Amino acid sequence: MKKAGARIYLSSPHMGGNEINYINDAFEKNWIAPLGENVDGFERDLQNYTGRAHAAVVTSGTAAIHLALMLCGVEAGDEVICQSLTFAASANPILYQGAKPVFVDSETTTWNMDPDLLEKAIQDRIRKKGTPKAIIVVHLYGMPAPMDRIIEVASKYNIPVIEDAAEALGSTLGDKKCGALGQFSVLSFNGNKIITTSGGGALLADDGEVINKARFIATQARDDAPHYQHSKLGYNYRMSNIVAGIGRGQMEVLDERVRVRRKNHQDYFDFLNGSWLDSNPENNSVGFTGYSDTGLYFLKEPERYVSNRWLTTLLVHPDETGGITNNDIRLALEAQNIESRLLWKPMHQQPLYEKYPYYGAGVSDQLFEYGLCLPSGSNLTDDQREEVCSAIKAVLSTKRVVV
Ligand SMILES: *Cc1c(COP(=O)(O)O)cnc(C)c1O
Repeated sequence: MKKAGARIYLSSPHMGGNEINYINDAFEKNWIAPLGENVDGFERDLQNYTGRAHAAVVTSGTAAIHLALMLCGVEAGDEVICQSLTFAASANPILYQGAKPVFVDSETTTWNMDPDLLEKAIQDRIRKKGTPKAIIVVHLYGMPAPMDRIIEVASKYNIPVIEDAAEALGSTLGDKKCGALGQFSVLSFNGNKIITTSGGGALLADDGEVINKARFIATQARDDAPHYQHSKLGYNYRMSNIVAGIGRGQMEVLDERVRVRRKNHQDYFDFLNGSWLDSNPENNSVGFTGYSDTGLYFLKEPERYVSNRWLTTLLVHPDETGGITNNDIRLALEAQNIESRLLWKPMHQQPLYEKYPYYGAGVSDQLFEYGLCLPSGSNLTDDQREEVCSAIKAVLSTKRVVV
């Protein structure tokens, strides 16, 4: 049972138990440093899990994206294409490099980058400015992006793809894991992700030379000399051996975390009497077709796609709820001390980014307008999930037009 007044969080850390043993080991050996057995071990675990040849663990997912951009040769004035519907951390490193983001809208079957709009954007940028230097694609809320098509378009113009898999560790597309789908792939172990090290990230690639280069830049770009010598600009981005110990423990329970998050999603769908979005909608671009009894729509997995369901998301159709909106539900949950959140506000709508080019068809705008993320932690109890569902049903019942 939930203690009276205890807040229900969107996604909170969930330790497996063994993390502390890896940390104790580091203490006993006095490897309290940004290198050591846990760093090596965590990198190996990530390689084995994703099927990637090489991995470097770093201080954050944001740092990993920054490194990927540098390795793609992104410099001041260059353009980089980025999915608009995402967390700001996907796009911010573009500005760190003094480069210019170009935003692309989502498509309706995965809510991720639309490959047709991507190609339109590339062709238009080539006409106006030159070929973009990189493409940043995101697997939002754990749902893989349509990578086959994205890679096909990117290859046609010879542009490297950076896969932002920060939310998608444990998801798969066909026989490949997310984290193995881009030329560069990025993971995050921030406190709210499916596994966490309190803070951290990883850069993965098949080319070992490239990962060596990433390690070099991430350790202050120190040249091979007996004194401290630097010919290139470096950063201090390497992960601590203590933090990596948490990561090793978390990897032991990752598959179990995925199982429970997926069950959360299915239970919400069942208990809230949800409807699957129509992936091929005629009347509405995000798939509202007016066939739901409850006005609550969930995103289905396309064939060959498996989402880790990091966060359970749904769309709330006010026409079918008697006017109750996603934000009404959010406020009603907040009144019960339950955390929920609107979907990411698209980058092209952000004050920081609205002046940059955007290629869109209104999909991410609609997802932001109607979407809501529910408490989705793997440590959410059945009672807590029922409490969330009851609170949602209660607010819906205040306005529901019963036919
Ligand atoms: C969390 C997240 C990041 C950033 O990861 P940090 O480890 O917090 O720096 C990047 N992109 C997306 C989509 C994320 O959700």
